[in-house]
Amino acid sequence: MSIKQATFYAIQCDYPGCTYDTSDLGEYSAWMHLSDAVEEWQSADMLIVKNGPDDKRFYCDEHWMWSEDEDEMIPLPEGIEGEFILAERRIRRVIGAATERALTAHHRRCSDWMHRDHARWQRWDRAREEEAVTARLRESIARTLGIPVELITPTVGYIPAWKMYDAGPLSAP
Ligand SMILES: [Zn+2]
Repeated sequence: MSIKQATFYAIQCDYPGCTYDTSDLGEYSAWMHLSDAVEEWQSADMLIVKNGPDDKRFYCDEHWMWSEDEDEMIPLPEGIEGEFILAERRIRRVIGAATERALTAHHRRCSDWMHRDHARWQRWDRAREEEAVTARLRESIARTLGIPVELITPTVGYIPAWKMYDAGPLSAP
């Protein structure tokens, strides 16, 4: 058995203290060709700064920022300024997650409320229908008896006219 040594390439973030590397990007930990590792880094929207033909610097997505002045991605400043930016990003993420949770809870509450409200309107519609039926019933009873509709109690409900008649004298309002 003969064993050969092979060289593979991986890229690690150049920001001091960062251990993020190409193995964090996906299924491969290293590439046989450096250009493939570079391409992988680039396609993941990480930053590559070319200082010269053979001097490239790499920054993971946590360690680059957008420069409004230069209108391009730049490495995060090192030291306290970089720490401030990272802290502000963490705050934004926490607030973002809390906002997301609040919006979800709010949406659920709105939807519950709408369902309850819908049921309320359905009940209201039914009540209006019952009122209309009652009104027609009162008119029909009054016509049958030959008396003014005002003399029929407004709460006849669904009691059929003949039952109403059999029940005895109709009450005046
Ligand atoms: Zn990094």
